Amino acid sequence: MADICGERAYRLLEEISFERRGGSTEEKRAAGILAKKLRDIGLDPEIPEFEIWSYEPLEAGLRVLSPYQKEYEVEVYGLTGCTPREGIEAELLYAEEADEVSLATAADRVVLVNRGVDLKRYRRIAEAEVAGFVAWGGEIYRREDMPKWAIRPEYFKHGKIPGAIIFADDAAELVQKKAEKVRLTIQQDEAEVPSQNVICEIKGREKPDEIVVITAHYDSVPYSMGANDNGAGSAIIMELARHFAQNSPGRTLRFIWCGSEELGLRGSFAHVREQESDPDAIKLVLNVDVAGGILGRNRAVVTGPDSLKHYVDVMSRCTGVAFTTKQDVYSSDSIPFAEQGIPSLNIMRFGAPIHNRHDRAEYLCPERLEELGRFALRFLSDVDAARVFPFEREIPDDVKKKLDKYFQRVRGENDGEEKG
Ligand SMILES: [Zn+2]
Repeated sequence: MADICGERAYRLLEEISFERRGGSTEEKRAAGILAKKLRDIGLDPEIPEFEIWSYEPLEAGLRVLSPYQKEYEVEVYGLTGCTPREGIEAELLYAEEADEVSLATAADRVVLVNRGVDLKRYRRIAEAEVAGFVAWGGEIYRREDMPKWAIRPEYFKHGKIPGAIIFADDAAELVQKKAEKVRLTIQQDEAEVPSQNVICEIKGREKPDEIVVITAHYDSVPYSMGANDNGAGSAIIMELARHFAQNSPGRTLRFIWCGSEELGLRGSFAHVREQESDPDAIKLVLNVDVAGGILGRNRAVVTGPDSLKHYVDVMSRCTGVAFTTKQDVYSSDSIPFAEQGIPSLNIMRFGAPIHNRHDRAEYLCPERLEELGRFALRFLSDVDAARVFPFEREIPDDVKKKLDKYFQRVRGENDGEEKG
């Protein structure tokens, strides 16, 4: 009887604590490490590939030509196309939130905007017919890593608008010194490259046609070693797989380590799109994304029926593991399943750093991995042993509305003013 071992989970997360951007060779290496672990515990994983858009920055330049002259350090905004080789010369306009008012005089200018561009902002700057854009990132009081941002394929329908990224303090200087005329140069190679999921199914003894899917993404964002987000979840579900490899389940358990989650849930979308079994067979998804923080708080986001939320509340009291629970959507690999009407439980522990170079194993500990892992195991064991599947395969209307809003935001399916 294998139990959840926090120390072992921690060692695995240390082993995959290196930058693992979607589509990179490092992501592929991490997939190989996970697959080997699965084979070592007697399972038979598959590593199906899918395509994602990727870019190679070749040149990025921003030169102020008047009223002063200065070359600024900038980065290519990924997948936004290229300027002509010699660059474009245009007036600079600080368009703050890329809002309607700020963009009123933006045609043919290079606009400076706060932070990155989401789909709605991208559409607005496209409609304003700007010549290019510069987004500022980081903190004005501290230079750390230049953000590496890219637009997503959903944006492509609005055309290519060459973009750059600049440090916040330099952006402030551009505004303060009233930079007027600039030359923006952006060159990049864009291509589709393979990313991959790692999938391992343990067939059920009694009800093989009822499937519970267990997900955790294993890719990371740039600069991040992705220990907390989400080496930790990857290691926790490996412990679950190990348990059920040795204690064969009644229902079928499908474990998926998803690739390219950070690029827009690409791996889980690819899986849902390409899976061959009857989609009605999947009864529930358990997703673990961010875990193990020495400091932090546990959260459960239930994209599913009231009964599931209440069950987690009761389990929390029974086990003494504190959780705040909510019926909502969680921007992670449960979303593509929710779109198919499949309910999910997302569990996580927030507190330790994510999405920067400070996402490191040293802020996580085996005890908290073990705690969340045991909670997940107890939940899965209950679901697996149930005579009748314990939770309705449904998503309540108010949660469906939140899901619709989520899709509107990421796909731009309407012009609503939603924000998140
Ligand atoms: Zn994550």
